Amino acid sequence: MGHMGRMHSNYPNKPTLASMGEFGLIEQIRAQVDADPTVPLGIGDDCAATLVAPGHILLTSKDLLIEDVHFKREWISMYQLGRKSAAVNLSDVAAMGGEAHHLFLGVGLPVDIGADPVEQFIRGFLDECNLAGATLCGGDTCRSNGALIISVTVQGSIAAAEMVQRGGAHPGDHIYVSGTVGDSALALTQLQAGVTPDQFLLRRHNQPTPRLELGRQLASRRLATAMIDISDGVFADLGHILEQSHCGAVVDCRSLPFSSVVQEYMGANGGANGADHAETVICGGEDYELLFCVDTQRTDEVAQLARQLDLPLSCIGTIREQGFGLQRIDPSGRQQTVTARGFNHFR
Ligand code: ADP
Ligand code: MG
Repeated sequence: MGHMGRMHSNYPNKPTLASMGEFGLIEQIRAQVDADPTVPLGIGDDCAATLVAPGHILLTSKDLLIEDVHFKREWISMYQLGRKSAAVNLSDVAAMGGEAHHLFLGVGLPVDIGADPVEQFIRGFLDECNLAGATLCGGDTCRSNGALIISVTVQGSIAAAEMVQRGGAHPGDHIYVSGTVGDSALALTQLQAGVTPDQFLLRRHNQPTPRLELGRQLASRRLATAMIDISDGVFADLGHILEQSHCGAVVDCRSLPFSSVVQEYMGANGGANGADHAETVICGGEDYELLFCVDTQRTDEVAQLARQLDLPLSCIGTIREQGFGLQRIDPSGRQQTVTARGFNHFR
């Protein structure tokens, strides 16, 4: 649909987006997608036709990534941007306990972008899909007069009785997070300050891992009472669980799982601005780890699952009655009510 317009490329011997055109690009994408028995009709028709297992319900989620709002092209490779665009969507399916199946990719491409970066983006996107056992089934491609715009829809499925929502937490449940938190936020803080983060941090920020296997295990064992993926920060996302579960909670910041890199940073910045530095990391987002609640009677099973998946699952606090609000025990041991919870686009 529409025109790609004239484009300039730094790769005179390779086809440019202008010479390929919208349909050349779509054909190139189509050629890289493997056959999938759950996709009788994929890229190439007016709609994709896809199958969901009998007895399963369909899960659908969408995420938008806009240049200079969600990412800066100087700070992430196009390959990683492709992976991240798929990963943040897959993470939403993980947070329901589902299996990811089908993705749809909308892109608005700036007129000056070359064919090579677009190819790398697609390669990253498809690599991430393949890791999840999911298939790109369609999308839309057009020109953007400004920012690079990426809009991804993911569809997954789950047996209705296994679905884990945000609203199922009960007072007394323990609150867990997977992996480590704060790596991505620290990387972003450093990038914004003009400092190059170390390899580990940069990778955590630019190439998050959707915790699909963990989500699936927690759901199929009916272990999680409520679950969410951490995109806006531990407190912001726990806040969503508390609202929908009509509960309060207490989180012990001393139990938050920090990587050694983050621990070192917090240790080295314990001076006058120490509290601010800790805040950045504690309230930062984009970890794409899972935060979930478990009945206290079943905490042994969480430890066993952590060993099985070779993934740390750390208890960070306890669900309380709604009137309790959200409180945290600071690194200093002081307990206080949490006010500002994390990232919010319109604040
Ligand atoms: P329509 O005009 O009906 O929107 P298009 O010409 O935009 O159809 O797209 C043709 C086919 O290519 C469709 O199957 C569509 O889903 C697919 N497609 C378009 N852009 C992309 C993309 N970026 N990634 C994957 N599939 C795409
Ligand atoms: Mg279209």
